[in-house]
Amino acid sequence: MSYPRYVSSRNRAADPVSFETALLAGLAPDGGLYLPTAIPALPENWRAAPSLAELGTAVLSRWLGGEVPEGALRAAVTAALDFPVPLVRLGDDLWVLELFHGPTLSFKDFGARLMARLMGHFLTRRGERRIVLVATSGDTGSAVADGFAGQPNITVVIIYPQGLVSPVQERQLIVARPGVHAFKVAGTFDDCQELVKAAFVDTALVDLPLSSANSINIGRLLPQSLYYLWAARHFADPITFCVPSGNLGNLTGGVLAQLMGLPVKRFIAAHNANDYFPKFLRGLAEPFAFAPTIATLSNAMDVGAPSNFERLYQLQSDLPSRIWATSVHDQTMLARLRWCYERFGYLLCPHTSVGLEAIERYRQESGDLTPTVLLATAHPAKFPEVVQRTLGLTAPPDPALTQLWQQPVSVTPLEADPAALRTVLRDLATR
Ligand SMILES: *Cc1c(COP(=O)(O)O)cnc(C)c1O
Repeated sequence: MSYPRYVSSRNRAADPVSFETALLAGLAPDGGLYLPTAIPALPENWRAAPSLAELGTAVLSRWLGGEVPEGALRAAVTAALDFPVPLVRLGDDLWVLELFHGPTLSFKDFGARLMARLMGHFLTRRGERRIVLVATSGDTGSAVADGFAGQPNITVVIIYPQGLVSPVQERQLIVARPGVHAFKVAGTFDDCQELVKAAFVDTALVDLPLSSANSINIGRLLPQSLYYLWAARHFADPITFCVPSGNLGNLTGGVLAQLMGLPVKRFIAAHNANDYFPKFLRGLAEPFAFAPTIATLSNAMDVGAPSNFERLYQLQSDLPSRIWATSVHDQTMLARLRWCYERFGYLLCPHTSVGLEAIERYRQESGDLTPTVLLATAHPAKFPEVVQRTLGLTAPPDPALTQLWQQPVSVTPLEADPAALRTVLRDLATR
């Protein structure tokens, strides 16, 4: 059996590297994204898997079997994907796949939790350590903080803009976790990102084992193909998936599942006012002619330049015939959120509401009523302000959130100055 290796999206003729190398590096040395040299086929009996963890182990062993022993892979997948993933029927031919029952209540838990365990596995074997450095404005930081906490040989540094994340988001970032250090910066998200970028190229820090965990890492992408399979096994015929999208990492996971052999009728990419990808698919924007980011109520999808576009563009030919996309603005999203609650008694988060609106538009435009699964990317209780404002009601709290407010926190102020971060990182590296 042969396994995929990985090449840069910017030089596919270069010598391919192992999954371990691609995972630990994040980006290829030339700044490209890692692409697999081949896509393994789904295991024959994938529909019969008794649990998501078993399905995940069987599928990922086709990708990683050459590098991670079966037992270690099963242990990592089982520990990472230990929460329910319910498929809820909303109406005729419409289902919601709830991806928000992980510890930080967004789908980012899938990628972050499994990536952390795979990274821990390789680092232990190498006897090496990494400091994972992330700037965050939302769901990524909490998923990474939680997913990587307590992993062997890994220290996590989270940097966020003070006062510019929601109260729930902040709490999720600063809950005290082993091996995780949270810093609040008096500045914007862009200031935080600049700090992180500066640290990665800081010549005074070249001897530190810095690493990143952002959404372009192949280790976060592979786990995001698994829940497409988990949902599809309930259906005999090809279905349509609707994916609330920003950096296009979630959608790329779905495309990987399709390339492995999952029959998919269509993907619907649901974007907010940040509409580069819908424009590209309609021939209204050139490849890579990205736009500045616009702030919206579905803030985890506020991405002007989707980082996974470069990968998706090369991974799958003829994107416009496989993916239908639309851009939904805040007012329409809010109306759809209210409509869904009144019609089905079902509460959506703002991101998922963008998705439901996109499904309605797709059905109108195409007349295609194929059974459709909407990926619910976050728990509505993470956005109490929007729910309160739109429906005048308090979202029922998730037990994970209730528990969050009772835990001790730990956070340190940090100046928006590369020298300050340098001192912090040097200090952590010597501990
Ligand atoms: C990150 C995120 C998205 C967008 O996912 P991408 O992989 O960046 O396209 C959508 N919804 C929520 C809740 C998210 O956290």
